[in-house]
Amino acid sequence: MTPDKLMNGWFSETSEMWPGIAVSIEIETLLYSKKSRFQQIDLYETRHHGRMLVLDGIIQLTDFDEFAYQEMLAHIPLFAHPCPEKVLVIGGGDGGILREVAKHDMVSSIDICEIDEKVIQVSKDFLPAMSMGFDDPRVRIHIGDGSEFVRHHSLEYDVIIVDSSDPVGPGEILFEKKFYEYSKRALRKNGLMAVQGESFFLHPDKVQKIVRHMKDLFPRYGYAYSLIPTFTGGHVGICVGSGGADPSTPARAIPKQIQTGLKYYDSKIHQASFVLPGFAEKLLQDA
Ligand code: SAM
Repeated sequence: MTPDKLMNGWFSETSEMWPGIAVSIEIETLLYSKKSRFQQIDLYETRHHGRMLVLDGIIQLTDFDEFAYQEMLAHIPLFAHPCPEKVLVIGGGDGGILREVAKHDMVSSIDICEIDEKVIQVSKDFLPAMSMGFDDPRVRIHIGDGSEFVRHHSLEYDVIIVDSSDPVGPGEILFEKKFYEYSKRALRKNGLMAVQGESFFLHPDKVQKIVRHMKDLFPRYGYAYSLIPTFTGGHVGICVGSGGADPSTPARAIPKQIQTGLKYYDSKIHQASFVLPGFAEKLLQDA
């Protein structure tokens, strides 16, 4: 458990990554708490926001707003690609991204490489609305480091989605240039890579690092964001590198059967989410 973050029934997310600021969530009960080989895993029932997954003291998701993260990180690259067939998810052990990818009929295979099988198990036990993503027959699970996994693949995927934790602990390697290089090589000709792109308010340096990798490796890139009230900073970036299509515009119509099941993503928000405030735009230009 992370008792230093619990006080009077409230969990407060503090971190050296964002000094002097905290998001606090009122807790009902702690349902699960164990250290895996890779990280401390805590699962809470909150008082007002459903269940909450916390890894090494950092909020990964709540039932309340997880759709804003999963829908945008999955559907932006998938709809920016004219015909995504083979998809790879790195991280994403809760299954929420898989749930969204599985909505696309034209996708024929979905590989996921998650380093910590305990996260998958905890999600299966406590987060059924997300772990349902693992039930799709197209999903193949690989347990291991995402960077090692992509290193051994070449010209294979149309879309790679990096649903990673922050760049400390096991997630650190997924922010390194080498990982981006391997991922680029693992993509087919017009492939797209979308990564959890941190916060332009809280970590301008990390955002610039991600953007530099994308600029160096892909002919086109874009940086979007999604609003996530339970993440410190209230939003998360989504950085997309593309070997073909402009990532900021859907390359095809959104089928009605997908659109009716979505709460955040549509073609207007796809395009609008790439429009950034001036200071963030400058950050990208200077990267
Ligand atoms: N929505 C989340 C966020 O950004 O706050 C991310 C959620 S997801 C649970 C992140 C996952 O990435 C975790 O399950 C973690 O175990 C996994 N992960 C971290 N480092 C990894 C690595 N090197 N290879 C594969 N998976 C990794």
